[in-house]
Amino acid sequence: MRVLVVEDERRLAAGLHNGLAAEGFAVDVALDGTDGLWLAREHPYDVIVLDIMLPGVNGYRLCSTLRREGIWTPILMLTAKEGEWDEVEALDGGADDYLTKPFSYAVLLARLRALLRRGARERPAVLSAGDLRLDPAAKRAWRGEVEVELTARELALLEFLLRRRGEAVAKREILAHVWDDQFEATPTSSRSMCATCATSSTGRSGGPPSRRSAGPATGW
Ligand code: CA
Repeated sequence: MRVLVVEDERRLAAGLHNGLAAEGFAVDVALDGTDGLWLAREHPYDVIVLDIMLPGVNGYRLCSTLRREGIWTPILMLTAKEGEWDEVEALDGGADDYLTKPFSYAVLLARLRALLRRGARERPAVLSAGDLRLDPAAKRAWRGEVEVELTARELALLEFLLRRRGEAVAKREILAHVWDDQFEATPTSSRSMCATCATSSTGRSGGPPSRRSAGPATGW
């Protein structure tokens, strides 16, 4: 497995290089964000270990740039500062996991193995279908450039449908994933919610709701 380490602290970078190489990884090291971004674009890495505070391009920007370009190599972020917002920003920006410095080398290896098991499938932080976009972290949705106001449940429903884009989705699946056990389903409750969601997101105030933007839903 080939790993890219982007870390500007030379001692830590060298330690990661030697330790990961001893585990059998093929390891490339970049000492700044600019080189890291170039290497990540040029080579098909299996996983990237990415520091946040870097000269050139910082870790957040490097990560979001790769995701925007459709490069889904799993990324483990190294956060140096204390504070949950670093971690929140890392994960919401498209990273897959994080470790706070100083970290245990054994934990780093275990996290990398877990990321390698998941692979580099597409997992965007912002979901989209056509000109409809949803940012689940910010709980905001847009149709083109116009923001669409949706309730929390409508956002959850839209997120579920966008994550299953292109698939037929049964009503019982929607109920199981969007509503909790306390919810008493009626013949029209989830259907009317979906209609509201679809109508709002298409910007229509009347007429039949369209589900084309979020993929087909069947079994109604
Ligand atoms: Ca640094």
